[in-house]
Amino acid sequence: MSNLSTIGVIGAGNVGAAIVNALVLRNIGKEIILYNRDKKKAIAEAMDIDDTIPLLSEMQVSATNSYKDLENCLIIAITVGARQKENETRLELLERNSLIIKEIVKELDKVAPEAILLIVSNPVDILTRVAQNFSIRENKKIFGSGTVLDTSRLRYQLGKELHVNRKNVHVHVVGEHGDSEFAVWSNAIIGSIKLDEFPLEKGVNLESIKENSMQIVKRRAYEIIEKKGYTNFGVAVAVVKLIQCVIRDERKIFSVSVGANEEYGLKKGVVLSLPCIIGSQGVIHRLILSYDDKEKKQLENAARSLDDAYNKIN
Ligand code: NAD
Repeated sequence: MSNLSTIGVIGAGNVGAAIVNALVLRNIGKEIILYNRDKKKAIAEAMDIDDTIPLLSEMQVSATNSYKDLENCLIIAITVGARQKENETRLELLERNSLIIKEIVKELDKVAPEAILLIVSNPVDILTRVAQNFSIRENKKIFGSGTVLDTSRLRYQLGKELHVNRKNVHVHVVGEHGDSEFAVWSNAIIGSIKLDEFPLEKGVNLESIKENSMQIVKRRAYEIIEKKGYTNFGVAVAVVKLIQCVIRDERKIFSVSVGANEEYGLKKGVVLSLPCIIGSQGVIHRLILSYDDKEKKQLENAARSLDDAYNKIN
């Protein structure tokens, strides 16, 4: 594996285009193929991003509306998503998005059966399960961007509150990429000190820091969407980090959407966001965290609500 890889991105919307742009800015991969059913939009985005290449590095971005062109991809990020229609319920939208994912997976199974599939479309945990159950490839080769972005938001926020570099903040947001997500505080570590034992400034209350930080994380996407209509730059960098991890076999730990480990005693097959080691073969290892009683309940609740939603559309 090397930087000489071909990367596919399906969907040239806000998220897809931002991913391609971030891949070029960070010089990840050799060739990027941007697929969109409306080829004109893919061409326009590819041309615009291509204009940055002479100023940056040697890469190639091409546009297509043919799945066949994705045949050499090592990894393919799927970002297509239907927009909610007037009077459409969230469940109906989920049903439509689930059909779109099935259609795409069917095509990718024909042209690129060995490629790693990285699901970004929302609801990402449920659509990852749809893709896993519909594809011929092994489950480890299909995962979702899960709570990577949420975890990075929390590390940033906590670092700010504790006046410590976010890179020394180790904590994971897990469960659902959505309203029922939660932080595994019982495992949180700052440098090599347990969060609960970390020296705080006088008058600072750790419990309120935890609560405020998590509230900010949960509100973040809503706030951005309220102001500009969508989110794209944050998720794009989260996805690029995952792609980089796969093509360079970096084996870093990220909270991605995967089938839950049996050890948790959750319903078999349920997909939720959990910390995993990511490498060239996709999900190399699903890590088992120890949860306290409250976190166990939160995990069970997240699994139940994701499983209920999945069962309603399947
Ligand atoms: P967008 O509307 O800008 O783009 C959607 C793309 O999907 C377009 O290219 C459109 O042509 C394509 N599309 C729609 N219906 C299709 C169909 N039936 N067949 C093929 N292609 C189809 O949307 P966006 O802002 O780029 O968001 C894309 C997805 O990413 C959404 O599901 C969104 O919720 C999700 N998202 C996920 C995260 C995350 O953290 N996982 C963050 C932001 C957005």
